[in-house]
Amino acid sequence: MTIQTLTFRNQLFINGTWRDASSGKTFITYNPATGMPLTEVAEAGVTDVDEAVQAAEAAFYGGWRDLAADERGEILYRIADALENYREELGLLDTLDAGRPIRDTLNKDVTRAIKTFRFFAGMTDKIRGAHIPVQPPLVNYTRKEPYGVVVAITPWNYPLNNAVTKIAPILACGNTMVLKPAEQTSLSALKLAEICKEAGLPDGVLNVITGGSEAGEALSIHPKIRKVAFTGSTSVGKKIVENSKYGLKSYTLELGGKSPNIVFADADLEQAAEASVFSICMNQGQTCTAGTRLLVEENIAETFVQLLIEKAKKLRIGDPLDPSTQIGSLISKEQYERVKSYIQLGVAEGAKLVYGGIKPPECTEGYFLLPSIFTGIKNDMRIAQEEIFGPVLSIITFRDEQEAISLANDTSFGLAAAVWTKDLQRAHRLSDKVEAGLIWVNTIHTLSPSSPYGGYKESGTGLEMGLEAADQYMKTKSVWINTGNWVSPFSI
Ligand code: NAD
Repeated sequence: MTIQTLTFRNQLFINGTWRDASSGKTFITYNPATGMPLTEVAEAGVTDVDEAVQAAEAAFYGGWRDLAADERGEILYRIADALENYREELGLLDTLDAGRPIRDTLNKDVTRAIKTFRFFAGMTDKIRGAHIPVQPPLVNYTRKEPYGVVVAITPWNYPLNNAVTKIAPILACGNTMVLKPAEQTSLSALKLAEICKEAGLPDGVLNVITGGSEAGEALSIHPKIRKVAFTGSTSVGKKIVENSKYGLKSYTLELGGKSPNIVFADADLEQAAEASVFSICMNQGQTCTAGTRLLVEENIAETFVQLLIEKAKKLRIGDPLDPSTQIGSLISKEQYERVKSYIQLGVAEGAKLVYGGIKPPECTEGYFLLPSIFTGIKNDMRIAQEEIFGPVLSIITFRDEQEAISLANDTSFGLAAAVWTKDLQRAHRLSDKVEAGLIWVNTIHTLSPSSPYGGYKESGTGLEMGLEAADQYMKTKSVWINTGNWVSPFSI
């Protein structure tokens, strides 16, 4: 597979067939590394949304709901196997559409997508209700039941994995769905739909609608949608909840972050510095869990900042299609300008830019930005509080453990936190006291389909991944049966 032989799916996928938007409207998706158009994609409107939801509902009651759990699992295993055959194509699509380096899309992302499908394929026949010991001869048990039609709305930062993280558990739990990927990066989700069909997923079980906020909003308020699984910004997450006034749904919201990365003087500083730079540069800093607030013990701050700068200088930034590239392009001109405006704001707020903050001179096209490191940050500055979603690091010093904990928690977000220390007792104390859904000790960005993931505070509600996903995508029904002569209190 080469760029020359690559073709783009760019229509809507509804009930197993490909079609244009009913309005005939399209929008352009760009390659952010060149700023040039890649292709035009169908722009769904309210009519298309309705058709997709109707198709998903028909597929739910028409068979998917009642398919034996292990048979559902078999289909998901076949999807996992099929993904392997499309590794190169999927890698290329996300690199071209999102500016993410090919070595990451091709290897990390496709491998993780395969593992995610395998994990949830194996979960299908292990989901159980419970028998509850109530007064005989009454029998009480719980049933785990799918919601019905679920809508998944995803952001642009890890296009393939954001889609798979939703599709695999939603389908494993017996729901059908409509997926709406972000308008900047629709291509791998459309390819995924084709792969799922080829692997034997029945028509209507997965529908993919492309478009922007209009399609997203129409989906999230559609009366036949039972559950909204949203990943994206906190502001849009709140809009979706506000829209519950049009009809209440169940919501899983995976939102923004401003995660603390806490380095104590007793840590392995080489390792902590390597990981801190990786955290802020991976995917060009467009990672919800990025350790954007580096809290460092004041007596090692100067040495540590020098280590960070040395490591940042060595990173290879440039053409995302070059297999040696470590930092690709930001997603769009709009995002590039947004990040640049935060860098200007940081300087205006009195912080000191000690590295980066500019476009690398050798990158003449596209939206590339050197990692940007700020010192002299106060935690109440806007660049320390607001999610920038670019390679911008705010360094804040602390005197002792108590201050580190207060600074870590002094944010409206609570997605992730990392702690670097050799003191085991301190590691456990911070794991207890830091308010975030994910705590990494002497590691960072380790994730697994088998481990749950979700935010505290304004970083979201609900969990993704792990066996816990079954609680997100299934309802629990309580069933009472009189197996003998129980006399109901109402008849006395
Ligand atoms: P966004 O909120 O702008 O868009 C996300 C999705 O919502 C897109 O598909 C968009 O079309 C859709 N949308 C926009 N307006 C809508 C509306 N009114 N109703 C319904 N849908 C609507 O986010 P983004 O810019 O695509 O992604 C970046 C954000 O995603 C960051 O805040 C990042 O932290 C977050 N994110 C969170 C996680 C997590 O797991 N917590 C993972 C990845 C990204």
